[in-house]
Amino acid sequence: MYKRQVDHYDRDPERNLAELAALTAGLLEDDRLTEPKWTDHQGWRYAIPENGASSGSLERAESEGLYCVGDWTAGEGRIHAALRSGLEVGERIAGRRRD
Ligand SMILES: Cc1cc2nc3c(=O)[nH]c(=O)nc-3n(C[C@H](O)[C@H](O)[C@H](O)COP(=O)(O)OP(=O)(O)OC[C@H]3O[C@@H](n4cnc5c(N)ncnc54)[C@H](O)[C@@H]3O)c2cc1C
Repeated sequence: MYKRQVDHYDRDPERNLAELAALTAGLLEDDRLTEPKWTDHQGWRYAIPENGASSGSLERAESEGLYCVGDWTAGEGRIHAALRSGLEVGERIAGRRRD
């Protein structure tokens, strides 16, 4: 339903909250969650990357000893992407030290 984080940014927050409550209730199979006791909302239009960094730029930086990590390198604003990026770069640094 939510393709990208910003797809519903400009929509009425109450509608978003109601849809999210329904999704949560469905996920947890508990209809009580469709009527939360309180809700809050905050827009994050620019907080999440949508495009990865070009591999050429990252490789040029690495050749100069500058290693870049984080979700912005992968272009996916998710913790697993940031973690994977950090682990892969760590492996490359360790590999260079062994060489
Ligand atoms: C509102 C919101 C909700 C999210 N929800 C989810 C979710 O449900 N699931 C999910 O998987 N991901 C979610 N994410 C994305 C997730 O938080 C990021 O993908 C992840 O935190 C990226 O990790 P990172 O290490 O690349 O960057 P960050 O976690 O942003 O870490 C960067 C760190 O560098 C520090 N820093 C910055 N500049 C400097 C400097 N000059 N000197 C020293 N330190 C500096 C910052 O203080 C920060 O601690 C969400 C993000 C937002 C904004």
